[in-house]
Amino acid sequence: MRFIMALSMLFFMVSPAFAEEITIYSARMEQLIKPVFDAYTKSTGIKIKFITDKEGPLIQRMIAEGADSPADIFMAVDAGMLWKAAEEKLLKPTPSPTLKANIPSHLRDPNDRWFGLSVRARTIVFNTKKVNASELSTYEALGDAKWKKRLCLRTSKKVYNISLVAMMIADLGIEQTEKVVSSWVKNLSVPVFSDDVQVMKAVSQGLCDVGIVNTYYYGLLMAKHPDYPLVLFWPNQKDRGVHVNISGAGVTSHTKHEKAAIAFLEWLSSKEAQNLFAEVNFEYPVNPNVKPYAKVAKWGTFKQDMINVENAGKLQIDAVKLMDRAGYK
Ligand code: FE
Repeated sequence: MRFIMALSMLFFMVSPAFAEEITIYSARMEQLIKPVFDAYTKSTGIKIKFITDKEGPLIQRMIAEGADSPADIFMAVDAGMLWKAAEEKLLKPTPSPTLKANIPSHLRDPNDRWFGLSVRARTIVFNTKKVNASELSTYEALGDAKWKKRLCLRTSKKVYNISLVAMMIADLGIEQTEKVVSSWVKNLSVPVFSDDVQVMKAVSQGLCDVGIVNTYYYGLLMAKHPDYPLVLFWPNQKDRGVHVNISGAGVTSHTKHEKAAIAFLEWLSSKEAQNLFAEVNFEYPVNPNVKPYAKVAKWGTFKQDMINVENAGKLQIDAVKLMDRAGYK
């Protein structure tokens, strides 16, 4: 054993190019990724350095650093942001057969520059004391007159809503989507909230009866307040399916540890890492061979929108303009 350790130390010493360390710029919060990084280091010996910030500042930082950037991997919590990093030429194509096999095609870049690692569903939440699930059907139907003064939404400034509307544009077209968003605005019971948890608290307190939220916030909130009268509803099951987004990552254009960076992404998409990555935040695995966490599985299965999530980026500007025209603050 000591002999092998001595041998491997020698190997590191004579092979300075061997990546015993990779650097990740991550918009995924530290408490959600640190356990994953630690597990990888434990099983491979490869150290992971990381900094966390919002995607915008991380992208700006990589642009400013240029070829000197220490980042090997960029990790984001929205497909539109991954698309943006790729547009800025910050990510390099990684045509890995493993990543392609483990990740469904609508949840990764068609040009292999970024890959979904967990699925985040943005769906309807309702107050069980005020609403029966049979009254709900689609995102669009939340604009019906019967929901007048009964709807709560988070601000349109949040990228999750920009992505939701961008994907609706991809599915329904601009005109139809604008009608839907305008009808939502007319049905708001109170001004928009700054986060999903506030939306759910308002629904639970009866300030409104329905809202649209990411399911992991529901999971986190209900773990603390199991008594809240809130249930998730899966809309559009007879047509396009539930809007999904991803948290994901790509290898940077200026990486000096490309092989190690690819190996890490491949590991993240594997059965071994998928639950670890998704479970800590009540998300869904991207790898269809991995079952969701039991607490998440309890919310039921649903059909998801199969249009490529790159549309969240491609149609982002259209979505922002549309929401502005519709008066969605
Ligand atoms: Fe979030």
